Amino acid sequence: PNAIVWFRNDLRLDDNPALRTALEEGFAPLCVYIHAPDEEGGWAPGAASNAWRHRSLAALDADLHARGARLRRFVGPSLQTLTTLAAASDAEAVFWNRRYEPAVEKRDTRIKASLRGQGLRAESFNGALLFEPWEIKTRQDGPYKVFTPFWRNALASWRSRAPWDAPSEIADVAAGPAGVALEALKLAPERDWDVGFWERWTPGETGAREALEVFIDGALHGYCVDRDRPDRVGTSRLSPHLHFGEISPWRVLAMLEAERKASTAADIDAYIRELGWREFAHHLLHHFPDTIDSNLNPRFDHFDWGKRDARQLGAWQRGCTGVPIVDAGMRELWRTGWMHNRVRMIVASYLTKHMRMHWREGARWFWDTLVDADLANNTLGWQWVAGTGADASPYFRIFNPVTQARKFDPAGEYIARWVPELAGMPLPRRFAPWTAPKSGPPPDGYPATPLVDLAEGRAAALQAYSQTR
Ligand code: FAD
Repeated sequence: PNAIVWFRNDLRLDDNPALRTALEEGFAPLCVYIHAPDEEGGWAPGAASNAWRHRSLAALDADLHARGARLRRFVGPSLQTLTTLAAASDAEAVFWNRRYEPAVEKRDTRIKASLRGQGLRAESFNGALLFEPWEIKTRQDGPYKVFTPFWRNALASWRSRAPWDAPSEIADVAAGPAGVALEALKLAPERDWDVGFWERWTPGETGAREALEVFIDGALHGYCVDRDRPDRVGTSRLSPHLHFGEISPWRVLAMLEAERKASTAADIDAYIRELGWREFAHHLLHHFPDTIDSNLNPRFDHFDWGKRDARQLGAWQRGCTGVPIVDAGMRELWRTGWMHNRVRMIVASYLTKHMRMHWREGARWFWDTLVDADLANNTLGWQWVAGTGADASPYFRIFNPVTQARKFDPAGEYIARWVPELAGMPLPRRFAPWTAPKSGPPPDGYPATPLVDLAEGRAAALQAYSQTR
């Protein structure tokens, strides 16, 4: 018998429950990818995500070829494509791994019902998370809004599972349409603004595994402390690989646990806790789907976000605010498709508090420019910093970007790397070039003063906040 294995955000052969089920139950799998961005609600993948996906799909196809199979690509609509394909290839079943974005969840429910209605077997699996978003519940049987009790409960309910290895051979189904060329999906950018990405990243399963190995040999040791240091490679940089499902969280855990000893235990535990935030983000997305666009805390529905100033927003996006740590982060993002977590918090705080712009503006920009853009993690991150979300840092706790830079980029190296105009400027002035005007303006047209003065921006934000009480 034949079965369609519908690949989505699980672009791997290792530890892939949908593929494994097909093979174990003796189906000949038809490996399929369907391009249907208009089925993702208002959050169709952005440009950086598309650039990544193009390469990740090429890598998956190559991995399948090496095992005697291939990836068949189609352009949606998804349901119609699956129905036609099942008929043309004599498939009896369709298997896929779940996604949790609200629009996709709804679509998949409809697709499942419709395929079953046609007499096909349609089944979905958890290939992305340690827990299903609905598994962890409060004592009142409801969802959590605070991370610590959520994670405590999750750890108490822990059921480890060993990852499955990728099959060494996959007998492809000869029948059925071959699909379209990868280029026909038009995911790769027309202009090569993404060159900087590929100096850092290798999309695909092999790249993901290598990134994890590099982390285990290096930054894992001291992760507890260095994870907050943007001037160092202190984290795993697995986020795009995890988002696209090029590696499963159970594989990550298994490889980390193999390294557990007295000297690594605290670092491994700290890392697992970060994976816990990813779980929490999916829990929230599932239970509070409206938060992709609306505040979780309705108090902020009456907050005065000020008027949308396109010029100011543009300066933030391009890394020209005159606040060095903010500009460094925004330029790292533009060049590499990624930004360090600590700096994400700093730039988000400057936008939503000092500049008093709606968090959605920032979330949208991140969505288009991050290679790890993820609706669960991005929504949580922005609402957390803005103070509008679950377990949020309160609005009145406003990051001072200069203090943050001094603390987490103490030698100013991160700033010098991404804002090279300031590399020759001595410390501590490099953290705040406007503080010693007598030494002359910063070189190469770098703004002499911040777009929004730190003290004034802070005062105005607190004033606006006090009026929402
Ligand atoms: P590591 O420190 O190595 O962490 C390991 C993994 O744990 C990450 O790959 C990620 O999957 C998960 N993780 C770590 N921190 C968080 C967190 N705070 N929330 C949820 N999961 C986490 N992460 C995304 O994957 N996609 C996003 O779109 C995204 N948007 C963000 C927006 C804002 C405003 C903020 C403050 C954070 C955002 N994050 C997002 C979370 C975090 O910044 C990134 O996951 C992290 O920087 C990725 O780098 P890493 O893989 O080296 O992290």
